Amino acid sequence: MATNIYSGSSSIESFEFVMEICCNCNLPFMMPKWFREHVVNDSRVNFYCPKGHSQHYTKTLREEMNDLIQTNKTKLESKNS
Ligand SMILES: [Zn+2]
Repeated sequence: MATNIYSGSSSIESFEFVMEICCNCNLPFMMPKWFREHVVNDSRVNFYCPKGHSQHYTKTLREEMNDLIQTNKTKLESKNS
């Protein structure tokens, strides 16, 4: 049934896809949005590009947001002092 994937008649059309680019070979590939959010939010989860390069996000989105907030806080504090 793989030939029907893009026909729009199967249940797969309810998925949203996002593009990833392999950090090893720069090959672009698509993954379901829900799965990308899963790997972005959990740095322990590995995923693979179609050529088999293992990768994972080193920092979770939450950690990045916390860093961003901390940096801006520091900037604001130094501005106000
Ligand atoms: Zn790759």
